[in-house]
Amino acid sequence: MTLSIDGLPPLREVINTHDLRAKKSLGQNFLLDLNLTAKIARQAGNLTTCDVLEVGPGPGGLTRALLLEGARNVVAIEQDPRCLPALAEVSEHYDGKLTVIQGDALQINPWDHLTAPVRIVSNLPYNVGTELLTRWLSPPEWPPYWQSLTLMFQKEVAQRIVAKPGSKTYGRLSILSQWRTDARIVMELPPEAFTPPPKVTSSVVHLERLEEPRYPADPVWLSRTVAKAFGQRRKMLRASLKGLAPDLEDRIVAAGIKPTQRAEEIDLAGFCALSEQLRAQ
Ligand code: SAM
Repeated sequence: MTLSIDGLPPLREVINTHDLRAKKSLGQNFLLDLNLTAKIARQAGNLTTCDVLEVGPGPGGLTRALLLEGARNVVAIEQDPRCLPALAEVSEHYDGKLTVIQGDALQINPWDHLTAPVRIVSNLPYNVGTELLTRWLSPPEWPPYWQSLTLMFQKEVAQRIVAKPGSKTYGRLSILSQWRTDARIVMELPPEAFTPPPKVTSSVVHLERLEEPRYPADPVWLSRTVAKAFGQRRKMLRASLKGLAPDLEDRIVAAGIKPTQRAEEIDLAGFCALSEQLRAQ
């Protein structure tokens, strides 16, 4: 058998050997081209001085690229036990630099296994991707333990993350992401890049954390304000934010916003100012 560039078997062989037929229920769309996974790994920046957290390594295509790019350590959380033998081979090949935790990433706290600086790099399972991103962006303290997030999403979700006011995709995820990170779409991948191909185009988003939020705001109040405003995005703010303050219209005006404006028109600075006005009760 011809080995891959990293001295391990090609991913197609790995999948055949370990009978890793993709399961839809686990959002399994695998990347089998190591050149492509290397490109994704490089979007995360210099890995040689970092630990990397990967959610959903699957047969290990991106994991191998992260290790080949020189990651100090990789901690990977994988729900599917069928993938463990293949990942054990990768770990052995890289002298134990890969630690695999089997389980649901939504239930596992991997931080005990990681040393700062940490970069998170994942081809996320689509069913839990947005939930994980929201959690990573909402830690109890800022700055968080991670330096950056380099994540594969459906293109539509990626567009929501980087959207600006006035666009249809502008919403909660845009505000949450852009308040405390620099978020950019860095790659686009057609369905054929995956095995099996998903129905939609995918995008890689890179979010680099800011040490300080872009504008002062309280995370709970900002999240509450944005959720209410976009919950009824076609309504004027004086209607959609009803219940958040008794003298609501005065507070909206004090934030420099017209009560007749709609959520879509308010930029990040505006939402931060508005949430601060609503908080001051
Ligand atoms: N990283 C691999 C690649 O790029 O080829 C696989 C990516 S595939 C889109 C998503 C992976 O996440 C699968 O291996 C799946 O088993 C795993 N997964 C799904 N739900 C998970 C969860 N809740 N926690 C951890 N892993 C999960």
